[in-house]
Amino acid sequence: MAQVSLQGITRHFGNVTAIKDITFDIPDRQFWVLVGPSGCGKSTILRTIAGLESISSGKLYLGNRLVNNVPSRQRDVAMVFQNYALYPHMSVGENLAFGLKMRGEDKQKIAKRVQEVARSLDIEHLLKRKPKQLSGGQQQRVALGRAIARKPQVFLLDEPLSNLDAQLRDDTRVELKQLHQRLQITTVYVTHDQVEAMTLADRVVVLHDGQVQQIGSPQAIYASPINSMVAGFLGNPPMNILPVTYSNGRFIIFNHQSIALNSETLQQLQPTPGQKFDLGIRPENITLYSGGESDRSEALALQVNLVEPLGRETLIKANTPESNLNLNLLAGAAWQGKKGDRILVRFDPAKIFIFDSNNGNT
Ligand code: ATP
Repeated sequence: MAQVSLQGITRHFGNVTAIKDITFDIPDRQFWVLVGPSGCGKSTILRTIAGLESISSGKLYLGNRLVNNVPSRQRDVAMVFQNYALYPHMSVGENLAFGLKMRGEDKQKIAKRVQEVARSLDIEHLLKRKPKQLSGGQQQRVALGRAIARKPQVFLLDEPLSNLDAQLRDDTRVELKQLHQRLQITTVYVTHDQVEAMTLADRVVVLHDGQVQQIGSPQAIYASPINSMVAGFLGNPPMNILPVTYSNGRFIIFNHQSIALNSETLQQLQPTPGQKFDLGIRPENITLYSGGESDRSEALALQVNLVEPLGRETLIKANTPESNLNLNLLAGAAWQGKKGDRILVRFDPAKIFIFDSNNGNT
């Protein structure tokens, strides 16, 4: 069993608390992704699991083994960094073989394993080259190969795709997913990239200020973020977060306009007149208003600021004449509007999130 279990892990650096009371269990074979803004503690968690960082308090288990004081090389974990960290003077084959050699495996077994790994990553033709004779994508494959050659119990990846260009990054991401499906090694993966988080993860851990904000499947976190920080983190373009004030069964928005609240929201919130909230709405849940004059009160007037045709759809940034707020909305590919146009939009009332304007909580 290569379950990874963090129980109340805290790490201080002097008077900085990099991670605080981190608790979660990653079941064997799952792929978990750590996300959050820069400095939130993602790498510290990964390095702690790897044994490259000591633990100030709490307990870390790999399988059933308490490993707080077990040195990195005895933990049976493999880590891949964004900068590959290959041995420059060794060939690709020697890089792949290195960990096995250090473990004292016999020569024939090593040669067989190197071939297997090279085949599975499609780098057999590169075995004799030195790292500097490889492209960035090829180097990253070798780094992955070196990590999997040892058949580690746990695979730790720290932004492994961030040095690759867009196309290669997409391809390698797909390959990584297929590799995990084949090898089924418990994986912990750090990224800034929400597409990687959404597409790779069995579970996403969203961190902020060294603490866990929310853990869930990508779909669950996207659909039900517990606060405005999490809401703004997953989704591209991100969720729009707009300040609103309650008045008479409606939210005043963009200074002079307003939208109705559905009865469920009203009942849950029990708002008082003048109370302020943050309203969250994802771009795909704002539509161009096409209704008649009768329910015109549900439409909001905006001015187009920027149009970005994406092929399948068009991304519109818009604000109101009275406020500088920008929001993103998606229109169909056939939409022909331009900067400066006045448009009417509608927020899907069932897809509105309401957050406390002081602490961001739902
Ligand atoms: P990034 O996305 O920018 O890589 P991160 O989420 O991985 O950030 P960490 O590198 O884990 O964040 O850092 C968490 C906090 O701990 C930061 O405030 C950082 O400055 C601090 N920190 C990390 N390593 C050390 C260290 N060796 N000494 C002092 N402070 C550190």
